[in-house]
Amino acid sequence: MSTDYDLLVIGSGPAGQRAAIQAAKLGRTVALVERRELGGVSVNWGTIPSKTLREAIVYLTGLSQRATYGQSYRVKEEITIEDLRLRTRSVIDREVDVVRDQLLRNHVQIVHGSAHFRDPHTVLVSGDDQRRVSADRVVIATGTRPAHPPEVEFDDRTILDSDGLLHLDRIPHSAVVVGAGVIGIEYASMFAALGAKVTVVEKRTRLLEFCDAQITEGLQYHLRDVGVVFRLGEEVTAVQRHAEGALTRLASGKQIASEVVLYAAGRQGETEDLELEHAGLEADERGRIAVGHDYRTAVEHIFAAGDVLGWPALAATSMEQGRVAAAHAFGEDASMCQVLPIGIYTIPEISFVGRTEEELTEAAVSYEVGISRYRELARGNILGDAHGLLKLLVSRADRTILGVHVLGTNATELIHIGQTIMGLGGTIDYLVDTVFNYPTLAESYKVAALDARNRLLAVERIVR
Ligand SMILES: Cc1cc2nc3c(=O)[nH]c(=O)nc-3n(C[C@H](O)[C@H](O)[C@H](O)COP(=O)(O)OP(=O)(O)OC[C@H]3O[C@@H](n4cnc5c(N)ncnc54)[C@H](O)[C@@H]3O)c2cc1C
Repeated sequence: MSTDYDLLVIGSGPAGQRAAIQAAKLGRTVALVERRELGGVSVNWGTIPSKTLREAIVYLTGLSQRATYGQSYRVKEEITIEDLRLRTRSVIDREVDVVRDQLLRNHVQIVHGSAHFRDPHTVLVSGDDQRRVSADRVVIATGTRPAHPPEVEFDDRTILDSDGLLHLDRIPHSAVVVGAGVIGIEYASMFAALGAKVTVVEKRTRLLEFCDAQITEGLQYHLRDVGVVFRLGEEVTAVQRHAEGALTRLASGKQIASEVVLYAAGRQGETEDLELEHAGLEADERGRIAVGHDYRTAVEHIFAAGDVLGWPALAATSMEQGRVAAAHAFGEDASMCQVLPIGIYTIPEISFVGRTEEELTEAAVSYEVGISRYRELARGNILGDAHGLLKLLVSRADRTILGVHVLGTNATELIHIGQTIMGLGGTIDYLVDTVFNYPTLAESYKVAALDARNRLLAVERIVR
């Protein structure tokens, strides 16, 4: 069968972009279909706007400088929604431009419209015009959209999902955040930094269950300190809109009034419009597509990558999945390192790689802990971050690093030192012997490694 392109990519988020560019680099002809703005959720409604908002909030509120200059310190006294929007808009525009340029530079044909399968090699693209596009191979990278349960009356002004939040026309004085997952807790910490009264409702009894408990306890302590109220282990039965705001009702009988509600409890795979049945595929009840280790679906020439697969649903991993999927589509060997970092841009931020204390305890792995506190580092004092900490979990058997957990300034950058050592199978001895720039937060690795080594030695001395 003769087709229009070697590869058709559906979706221009991180997974789709990388898939398209990887195939182009292999000398293949590529078409990419996108129905909204280029860049996907990541650039337009997710990662980039939320991280830019965070940056603007941390700067304008002067939050990170208050330990030095006092609680009343602010860069701008009255922060407006325009102040925040100005920065996000310019960053988004530049990022979209970068994506467009990269695709064009690699001769990827951009097709605007919504893709619907007609047969396993052909999609109908509906938009301003309708056209059929066919390809030898396909990568589905359609991502996710916020879940909208029927008991929540979304109106894009008072009761919002994370997309709607970006259209807020004012900074709210009070907010309920339903869902203490990554998105919910990041926005809760931003609202709180802006001075809003925030209540977080989460049906699980712990926030960010997949993180190390010591780190999330630290985060929760900080958030409580700036006034956030946690309703953990509580279920929402209704979120209703009223003239003066919203009312969130919980199964326990509690009622919470707020100016806005951010509903951030779950996302749904964006597969409905694809009409997968025409391709011989199906999605699960949450719209996700199943793939094998090479990102191949049940149909030999169709691959899928990114959030549409489910966990970990990060831009960081989606990019790699896209690249690896396209390489496999053309018979190239490619793989993704499995030592994956997780970054959570709360205020303060969290990052980790490897296993948590809870997981190691559950698996009965013998480990030791090494901790470094920012307040004992010269850089920590210069920055005025007295609460940050870095924790190493070290194998008692061979001194390799089993996990790194960081809470505090630059956590999401610092983590990569630990990730690299873990990826290369290094031990804490490397950290003990190495020299770091001074004064830096990177030094925390050496301090934590020394702490872990001393604890390992303490046990060895007793049993000797
Ligand atoms: C608020 C928020 C904050 C986040 N923060 C972070 C973070 O800090 N770090 C991080 O790593 N990740 C973060 N993420 C997650 C990150 O945005 C996603 O993991 C990433 O966008 C997934 O990329 P993707 O390529 O799979 O899909 P997406 O980025 O969702 O892109 C999919 C694209 O496919 C298009 N599409 C869908 N169906 C069709 C169709 N039928 N035809 C044509 N086009 C279609 C969509 O319009 C969309 O543009 C965040 C997400 C949110 C919502």
